[in-house]
Amino acid sequence: MTTVSKLIKIKGLVQGVGFRPFIYRLATSHQLSGSVENNNTGVEVLVEGAESSVAQFISDIPSLLPLAASISEISVSEREITGFSSFSITKSRTLSDEVTEVSPDIGVCNACLSDMKNQPNRLAYPFTNCTNCGPRFTIIHDLPYDREKTSMRIFEMCPFCRDEYSNILDRRFHAQPVACKHCGPHYTLYYNGQQFTDTETILKTIARLLMEGEIVAMKGLGGYHLACHPFNEKTLAELRLRKSREGKPFALMFKNTGSVRQYLHLNKIEEDLLTSWRKPIVLLKIKKQFAHLVSTGLDTAGAMLPYMPFHYLLFEQLDLPAIVLTSGNVADEPIIIDNNEALRTLKPIAGAVLTYNREIYNRTDDSVAFVAGGSSRLIRRSRSFAPSPVQLTVKTEGIFAAGAELVNCFCIGKGEQAILSQHIGDLKNLETLEFYTESAERFKQLFRFEPHLAVADKHPDYLSSRFAKEMGIPLLLVQHHHAHIASCMAENRLDEKVIGISLDGTGLGDDGNIWGGEFLLCDLSESRRFTHFEYIPQPGGDTVSKQPWRMMLAYLYHYFGGAVAERFPHFFQNIGRKDMEAVLFLLKSGINTPLTSSAGRLFDAVSALLDVCRYSSYHAEAPMRLEAVANKNTDQAYNFSFDKVVSFRKTFGEIISDLAAGEEVAEVAGKFHNTVVNVIVEVSKRIRKQNGLNLVVLSGGTFQNRILLEKAEQKLKLVNFVVYSQSDIPSNDGGIALGQLAIAAKRRELEDLK
Ligand code: ZN
Ligand code: ZN
Ligand code: FE
Repeated sequence: MTTVSKLIKIKGLVQGVGFRPFIYRLATSHQLSGSVENNNTGVEVLVEGAESSVAQFISDIPSLLPLAASISEISVSEREITGFSSFSITKSRTLSDEVTEVSPDIGVCNACLSDMKNQPNRLAYPFTNCTNCGPRFTIIHDLPYDREKTSMRIFEMCPFCRDEYSNILDRRFHAQPVACKHCGPHYTLYYNGQQFTDTETILKTIARLLMEGEIVAMKGLGGYHLACHPFNEKTLAELRLRKSREGKPFALMFKNTGSVRQYLHLNKIEEDLLTSWRKPIVLLKIKKQFAHLVSTGLDTAGAMLPYMPFHYLLFEQLDLPAIVLTSGNVADEPIIIDNNEALRTLKPIAGAVLTYNREIYNRTDDSVAFVAGGSSRLIRRSRSFAPSPVQLTVKTEGIFAAGAELVNCFCIGKGEQAILSQHIGDLKNLETLEFYTESAERFKQLFRFEPHLAVADKHPDYLSSRFAKEMGIPLLLVQHHHAHIASCMAENRLDEKVIGISLDGTGLGDDGNIWGGEFLLCDLSESRRFTHFEYIPQPGGDTVSKQPWRMMLAYLYHYFGGAVAERFPHFFQNIGRKDMEAVLFLLKSGINTPLTSSAGRLFDAVSALLDVCRYSSYHAEAPMRLEAVANKNTDQAYNFSFDKVVSFRKTFGEIISDLAAGEEVAEVAGKFHNTVVNVIVEVSKRIRKQNGLNLVVLSGGTFQNRILLEKAEQKLKLVNFVVYSQSDIPSNDGGIALGQLAIAAKRRELEDLK
């Protein structure tokens, strides 16, 4: 038997996820001696033993990983035999400013759920966790990840917890948030002028209140939620009113996958995503309706499963398949995390407020995803995803990318990684801007990040651009749609010339117009516009987002002249005469009427034309409704023309004829989707012919449209294009910061080579 000694260096998400005890157990099970240690670049393992056992050990590491761990890099080298007598875990070392990953929060594991039924000091204890589950990013102040540097520091471990924490063979070995009934955090319910701290009373009271149609505010993992009965229209109407949330759908938390299946369609990939340890909200097709005011007429609902022990305990008391669970905030403000603020702000909304005494340090919303083309597609990246990094192929150290405006995330560069912040939100909101500034500061500290180069959107009025400018370091401005494409390239590790198709709502163009239906020839550093959707006047600028009918009028006016009101009176039946005249005045005079090539605005116009949505109450409602009504099985399409730019004149003419002939709205909407798909394929073919490019990169918020994304990918592949789209990073503006960072990193690399 040959004895060997090997040094194994592992990078990735390997801290705060039970990695060292896992290595310890694995090594001892193979009768190996040696050591394992954490340092800020990852984990180092030294093993000695029989050659075959060492080989088996190494191959077991990736296949038997703890649930939330992931390996980005593993290297093995030969060592001189030192003759260890046993295997041990050595103390953490700080090597440099390089840091390893901060684990995102992990949904409660089955072993902990079972402890809550069996361990006397954890019976129904709602803060039970272990090295495989529990809060992480939301409670961390600083690195290395130790209890002292989390909001668990105020809770002194009892002897029982300390034993588990110190025992290498225990599932709670070095589980920083370890807690039990005797030493950990606890809940308090504020109801009816009283405070309740007994868990059973709390659960019974909340269950009763929810059943009776009351709204309850509950502190979650990354912030407060508002919960209510999913069948009670009256309560839901009240919730919408008090929260100032008119039409945007509410998410639901289901008791289990069985109850999901009763109400929603769920395929295998969707089920895997829904039940994964990240427990995101997954958008699923509706089978059986809850109250109308949950999904407000859309054909999908956002579903998630319990992820905190408390959620499980609550469902045990509730005779409901699901509850509405929406963010605890008013209108578009950030989700509330502070107990006093919750009592102040959420009390007028909710009949009862549930708090607990462990501080949420980093705010995270529930993440949102859907499945298209067999892959999961994140559209809001926050709880349980942030702050996991994206591995790039260029050096990113010291770059701060400010992101966009409406769906903001920022991004920092460490080594060759891009670390995206959690979803921040709409920066036009003062509270959200504060959240942005505060989070940027926290990322600097947490990741030992020192910015040397800032990168921002070209739009001078974006508050993120102003923030970047005020940092007082060199600043690079990047065009919005180049950033979208670069985001998709970075996610897919592409670094070559591609056909970039950015279909999006908005984005300031190089010519000062509003871009958003763009076909770019680009690589990571440079971008050139090949063609775009025809410019259409956008009467009233940003006001069109609330009034899609304005874009309908603009398209009709642009294609069919000034007498549209007389020619097509039926399209304007529900529009006020004065409003109409005001918009016609804008169109005729050109006052406050920028030009736009936006795909989002095109979808707005068609949605309004079909009377699917003429007034919208939330962002992107008109395109979402158009998708929801569309018959995706139709294979017919309308004509369009593509000379220098892509014109939809023919499309609009044919839609109007179809409608006049009494064609179903579903059919027209389906044909319109196919038309846009055909545009994508036609233009790509032209570019391939002229420039020889064969790689198509799809990004921009419009690709959150599942019909469009799936059909575009299919049809492009059918004519032999290689197609990339976004999956782990949002194709909406939440992914912009990653693209900005990748562009800045690439340009810096090219500068350095000169
Ligand atoms: Zn656990
Ligand atoms: Zn304890
Ligand atoms: Fe965008």
